[in-house]
Amino acid sequence: MDVDYIVVGAGIAGLTSAYELAQQGSVWVLSKSSPANITTTWAKGGIASVMSPVDSVALHREDTLIAGGGRCDPDKVDILVREGPARIQDLVAMGVDFDRESGQGSAYHLGREAAHQRRRILHVGDQTGHNVHKAMYRAVSQHNRVTMVDQATVVELLCESGPNNKTRCYGCVVYIAGCRQHVYAKSIVLATGGAAHMYAQTSAPEGCYGDGIGLAHRAGAKIRDMAFVQFHPTLLYGTNFLVSEVVRGEGARLRDLSGDFIMDGVHPDRDLAPRDIVSRAVAKTLRAGSSHSWLDMTLCSVPIARRFPALHAYCIANGFNPCSQLPVVPAAHYTMGGVQVNENGETTISQLYAVGEVANTGVHGANRLASNSLLEGLVFGYRAARHIRTNGIESNAVSSQDTKWPERLPEASGLDFKIKAIRKLINESVGIIRTRSELIQARDTVQQWQSQGNFKDSIQAWSVNMMLTVGMHMIDDSLAQTNNCGSFYSTEFKSPE
Ligand SMILES: Cc1cc2nc3c(=O)[nH]c(=O)nc-3n(C[C@H](O)[C@H](O)[C@H](O)COP(=O)(O)OP(=O)(O)OC[C@H]3O[C@@H](n4cnc5c(N)ncnc54)[C@H](O)[C@@H]3O)c2cc1C
Repeated sequence: MDVDYIVVGAGIAGLTSAYELAQQGSVWVLSKSSPANITTTWAKGGIASVMSPVDSVALHREDTLIAGGGRCDPDKVDILVREGPARIQDLVAMGVDFDRESGQGSAYHLGREAAHQRRRILHVGDQTGHNVHKAMYRAVSQHNRVTMVDQATVVELLCESGPNNKTRCYGCVVYIAGCRQHVYAKSIVLATGGAAHMYAQTSAPEGCYGDGIGLAHRAGAKIRDMAFVQFHPTLLYGTNFLVSEVVRGEGARLRDLSGDFIMDGVHPDRDLAPRDIVSRAVAKTLRAGSSHSWLDMTLCSVPIARRFPALHAYCIANGFNPCSQLPVVPAAHYTMGGVQVNENGETTISQLYAVGEVANTGVHGANRLASNSLLEGLVFGYRAARHIRTNGIESNAVSSQDTKWPERLPEASGLDFKIKAIRKLINESVGIIRTRSELIQARDTVQQWQSQGNFKDSIQAWSVNMMLTVGMHMIDDSLAQTNNCGSFYSTEFKSPE
């Protein structure tokens, strides 16, 4: 099958690229998960962007750089904050109806989140991701040059040596409902999301194993900063439901089991300190023996049912009182590391781009500023597509190749136990607080598992292999760190707090 462009992933980043690319040629959007089960749809709090006269791109830039712990790429941050408002207008044009202060035509209602000096979080109730995705999916799938393909798992990027001895990517191998297909294209955009589901305790949907990072690594692309994983401090205990930070923006505060405020004396911004600092403070109370901490909702200054209807409904349906103390724990939430790209989403392989959470643009440094990731998907998804449109190759001559992949591949092969074991290992060894000895032990275990597997007899087996590849990157990059910075914290280095 020949198309002009392949986009792997149908989250905010992939849909942004697909929409732009469709203005120029045919696009296949491949997605292994249904829209209900991707991270974009699960996003709650909103999208950070400068929309108010009391805010400025300089302040948004400053907040992003500070949260990133000195490891952001300032030029990329500049692009993010400057181009953000235009991309928000694109969403509005697609039909996203962000909440306003008091009805049609009034100013946007802007939420507040940790480490933002101003209110700048655009939202649609507390189900922003769901509403944004719905509008984007409709706009993209209605385009006559776009083919949306679900149940489509990409298992290999097809590459060969290109001009100047640089590797070029000319297509991919994908299983669509278990049947193999080779798809060839002039450019391939990876938009496969992050790897937070590598952890047993996570806010991310199933399947977020960092496939794109594994695929790109196998193809020879550079992977960067995999030591940096963001943990969100408030996953509702015993569930996979995230209590958004906007709740703390409206006054809720974290208490330990004795009732003391956890963030008092830790950081001047207390519960609205950068996420890495809050998560670490909570993790320290848990290491002292608590099963969870409390989020005191009685301090919220807004009516909870009205401002956070999804949270309210979930709590009521699951036996929690949303207006009282909610039990919460930190959970793996976001992957700062990923496939190394430049300001146009170009990877180190020709014709291969990466956008969204799978990519490492450098905008998040060692700790992402809350609500900057949907924005990143929009800004860099758009830039990558624009770059392809103006610089992409004219035609994609493919010398047909024998494939080593079978024509049909079953979905599962009884490896649930292995996936569980990997997630437990990563949770325990590559968590909020790491030790060198645990990391070394984890590396040995992953190496041993890698040497044992036949990873080609099912999609699940392939997935296990990808998880081991991604896990190894997390461990190796953690072992390579020389100091504590942002979300990376090891007991052997000096504490930043
Ligand atoms: C609970 C939760 C709440 C969040 N809230 C916010 C928020 O309020 N604001 C904010 O800015 N960020 C938030 N985030 C982070 C943000 O949602 C994500 O970073 C962002 O949605 C990632 O978008 P994406 O397009 O890169 O990937 P995703 O939305 O994760 O989409 C990835 C796509 O790739 C596909 N895919 C993966 N592997 C393969 C493969 N091998 N073959 C084919 N397809 C594949 C998937 O099926 C999917 O279609 C939140 C995250 C979580 C978990």
